[in-house]
Amino acid sequence: MGVEPGWFEEGALVSVLTTQPLDRPLDYRAPEGGCREGAFVEVPLGPRRVLGVVWGPGAGGYDIAKVRPVNAVLDVAPMRAELRAFLSRAAEYTLTPLSAMLRLATRAPGLGAAQTMRKVYARGIGDPSRMTDARARVLDILDEEEGRVFTLKELADLAGVGTGVVKGLVEQGAIDERESPRDLPFPRLDPDLPGMELTPEQAVAAETLRAGVESGRYATTMLRGVTGSGKTEVYLEAVAACLSVGRQALVLLPEIALTAEFLTRVEARFGAKPAEWHSGVTQTERRRVWRMVGEGGAELVVGARSALFLPYRDLGLVVVDEEHDTSYKQEDGVLYSARDMAVLRAAIGGAQVVLASATPSLETWANVDAGKYGALTLTSRFGPAVMPQMRAIDLRGEDLPSGRWISPTLKTAVEARIERGEQSLLFLNRRGYAPVTICRACGHQIGCDHCDARMVEHRFLKRLVCHQCGETKPVPEACPSCGVEGKLAAVGPGVERMGEEAAALFPDAKVEVLSSDMYGSARALKERIVAIAEGDADIVIGTQLVAKGHNFPNLTLVGVIDADLGLQGSDLRAAERTFQLMRQVAGRAGRAERAGEALLQTFQPEHPVIRAILAGDEDRFWAAEAAERRAAGVPPYGRMAGIVLSAPDMQAIFDLGGEMARRDGPLRQIGAQVFGPAPAPIARIRGRHRVRLLVKADKAAPLQAALSEWLRQFRWKGDIRLSVDIDPQSFY
Ligand code: ADP
Ligand code: ZN
Repeated sequence: MGVEPGWFEEGALVSVLTTQPLDRPLDYRAPEGGCREGAFVEVPLGPRRVLGVVWGPGAGGYDIAKVRPVNAVLDVAPMRAELRAFLSRAAEYTLTPLSAMLRLATRAPGLGAAQTMRKVYARGIGDPSRMTDARARVLDILDEEEGRVFTLKELADLAGVGTGVVKGLVEQGAIDERESPRDLPFPRLDPDLPGMELTPEQAVAAETLRAGVESGRYATTMLRGVTGSGKTEVYLEAVAACLSVGRQALVLLPEIALTAEFLTRVEARFGAKPAEWHSGVTQTERRRVWRMVGEGGAELVVGARSALFLPYRDLGLVVVDEEHDTSYKQEDGVLYSARDMAVLRAAIGGAQVVLASATPSLETWANVDAGKYGALTLTSRFGPAVMPQMRAIDLRGEDLPSGRWISPTLKTAVEARIERGEQSLLFLNRRGYAPVTICRACGHQIGCDHCDARMVEHRFLKRLVCHQCGETKPVPEACPSCGVEGKLAAVGPGVERMGEEAAALFPDAKVEVLSSDMYGSARALKERIVAIAEGDADIVIGTQLVAKGHNFPNLTLVGVIDADLGLQGSDLRAAERTFQLMRQVAGRAGRAERAGEALLQTFQPEHPVIRAILAGDEDRFWAAEAAERRAAGVPPYGRMAGIVLSAPDMQAIFDLGGEMARRDGPLRQIGAQVFGPAPAPIARIRGRHRVRLLVKADKAAPLQAALSEWLRQFRWKGDIRLSVDIDPQSFY
């Protein structure tokens, strides 16, 4: 028994949650010196030692003599009660084992390892006996960033010199070399530096957010405004307020929007760069961020969705920028929506949430309507920029030869831009050269061997690629079905093919295709985007990548090659996605002083979604979309869960699915209905067949509890996997 709450004396029984896939915490004895609730520990599990967290008092009720002691208490800040509660609630909400949640919260290498030292370099008092250009560059950097220390490589790289130059300066006393702990706190941010002078509308929004942060209580606010209206400027004021009250802030961005541009902006506002957390961060830096967040040595984290699971000491604000972005929904492993989890975490910890978007999700609108979220709107773009003129190009009236996708009307508009030295964007949300490769002799279409999907030709990679599983193969000479040579033809457009067409139509223009798979690394891609924004292309051809977060000041025309593309899916969010994407893409035009124009090529200009986009009538679109979903009883007006069963053997999953549908007692008790089993829209991925059941319930029904009870009834053998997706965002 503990002498103080949450403290366990040596030998006391404690329950430890590990990161291993077990269904519950295990009991251990507190080690010599005792341990605290929340402590990170290493415990024996069979022959191994594994990471765990002291979750509470032991359960007991078995042969106590056999309980093994905790090996060691790790030298990191214990997990706070708030984070433990968050992980538990998130596990319940997503029907995920708690151990998987703990894995999300401990994604940093060597968490428990003792703090190691490394050599760092700073300006010394001496001057070199002889000054060279290289030496001067090194010393300039040290003088520019006074007080900062560098590693040898950082300093040499920044100065563009070899490490020998730095070493030489150390010998002369011009540079100090010293040992320093590896995990250093991040530089302090100064919330009192002046921000920009806000417009009256921005000032009102900023003041509201500021007051929310200062209240120290939970609330969620939607911050809506067209691209360029100053949402970032406004939420940085909320960050400033949060730093001023001594709490930590988190800004979540879709991965692709995590640019140097954004970090520079934070630095300009607060005098130093924030901590970063995303897939591009090195392992050692991850460890530093994880530890410093827990110790309070990082005040602001800018990151991708998993940054929500860091062990903040006192999180006071979470901003979810581009909150409608589909990348916030994790579609692998633990299926969670970062937007919903941000709200949950904030509610537990008394923090504020800001959901910023030019095109908020219908979920967020519904919560605003229901009075659960506050709403702030910025109506105008900052400065002279205005929303672009939007027009449809009715493809039924255009003279377009087959195999061509740029209509004469669009061509004329692009030419006008080239003449004026302005940029055009041709948008097509399809990677690769052509979506279909067909044999002109037998009609066979080349598919993936492992998936129910067609292979997409990527001419740049010189391969066919499956966009489901990533499998690639060379483009064959002969048809794999009939064996006839030289008859395989590319059908339909991808961005690479658009690049060819544009190069042929506009021979004097510089054409650039921007697609994630055409660059070796995310960094290379981002650098290219910056160069293009600075004018290094006349025509940009891009996928939805370009719809996100970057400024192209000289871009005045957006041509949407196929505005109908997103409307064809059976997805319940198809209309919403198309509306958001089109508006965002259109928002790329005319961000600086020049007015922009957006032209949408479509075969159905009278389609309600296309009409709403053209009219720019957001409120009407949302109202219509909400009415349809309400009538159908689907999210956000009803609840849904997708259950996907997969296995190499199709019969096995149909049998199990059928049994699940029949034994639906626990679901029927809450008034929920089960649909299926049916083949999933993609009926095979990576050689596994897929069957789907869909559960629908009323908004207020206790869906998770009923689902757990329902699923507990079933046992299965063999290689069957079951995944549950609460509030599915996409259906595949
Ligand atoms: P959003 O996040 O809504 O796209 P931003 O905050 O990025 O908008 O603002 C768009 C551009 O306008 C940025 O370059 C920003 O610095 C500038 N801007 C916004 N508000 C102001 C202001 N009040 N004063 C000066 N510049 C501003
Ligand atoms: Zn495949």
